[in-house]
Amino acid sequence: MSRFFSDKYASLIPYTPGEQPKDTKYIKLNTNESPYPPSPATVKAAAEEAGKCELYSDPECTLLSEKAAEYFGVERENIILTNGSDEVLNFAFMAFSDQDHPMAFADITYGFYSVFAQLNHIPYRIIKLNDDMTLNVSDYTKATENIVIANPNAPTGIALPLSDIERIVASNPYRVVIVDEAYIDFGGESAHTLIKKYDNLLVTQTFSKSRSLAGARLGIGLGCAQLIADLNTVKYSTNPYNVNRMTAAAGYAALCDDSYYKANAKEIEKNREYLQASLRSLGFVCTQSSANFVFAKSEQIGGETLYLKLKEKGILVRHFAGERIKEYNRITVGTREQCEELISAITEILKEQSI
Ligand SMILES: *Cc1c(COP(=O)(O)O)cnc(C)c1O
Repeated sequence: MSRFFSDKYASLIPYTPGEQPKDTKYIKLNTNESPYPPSPATVKAAAEEAGKCELYSDPECTLLSEKAAEYFGVERENIILTNGSDEVLNFAFMAFSDQDHPMAFADITYGFYSVFAQLNHIPYRIIKLNDDMTLNVSDYTKATENIVIANPNAPTGIALPLSDIERIVASNPYRVVIVDEAYIDFGGESAHTLIKKYDNLLVTQTFSKSRSLAGARLGIGLGCAQLIADLNTVKYSTNPYNVNRMTAAAGYAALCDDSYYKANAKEIEKNREYLQASLRSLGFVCTQSSANFVFAKSEQIGGETLYLKLKEKGILVRHFAGERIKEYNRITVGTREQCEELISAITEILKEQSI
């Protein structure tokens, strides 16, 4: 820390992203990226736009937001596009919460929520998940704070049905409910269909997971026009050109190529079922995942030990040190071949353990 670092950030502990090794020797199953590249049309659209980079991007993302409005069946005024969905989440914390309007979220969920709260000096209450890591809906129907829920949750992958999300939104008319749907395309039910009915609902999605654009950084917020206007006030006060030209073009092309990405998501769902079944037959316990990752632990090997031994064998998974989840690893679902390599590596590791 320099002599100049403001006291207001002195105790801030930043989010720790998953490892991004510079060599390619790892099978990378640690940050929930897609194992598939963007579609050829997506890549072409981004490349064409690169030649126009002397000009600023369109701060309104007109073409992309029109396309997204059509895609989601809403109006343009219901949409904001951002630099990854992390940005729209941060904008929402900034716009709707403060000292007098605290936040609440689960003890086991996306690690960024507590970072955004600390960054913006927002008090927050942690709501414990049930022992089986499911969420108790009634804990959220009588909240006195703004709420953020990842659905499906991370790192458990457990999804709430839309009816439960609606109960939470409907029972908190004086609070903003943010539903983070980063993984919704792998089997969950999106709540964006409710934004016309509830003016306190903000749904966020990302192009990073199901649309193979993690490195392009594109997120989206969906809500009533007033909520979106507030988020735009924050956006235009920080970075009006938050979505660059290449990314906006790639996002547009990705929505046009929906069938390509839907087919990839279906393949990942199939691989997930294969991976969960294989892990269970090796004695692992897995949460019921509706995402592109599985969350698994075994009585036969500690969570951190498995993480380290897999790394030695060239496979990266994500281990979290939190007390309730330290025996687990979060494993991104890759291609069928990657899943098979993972299973054979784990089989070997378990064998070595038992000698
Ligand atoms: C990956 C992820 C995000 C955001 O990812 P971006 O790349 O910033 O769009 C948000 N929430 C959860 C739960 C995630 O796992």
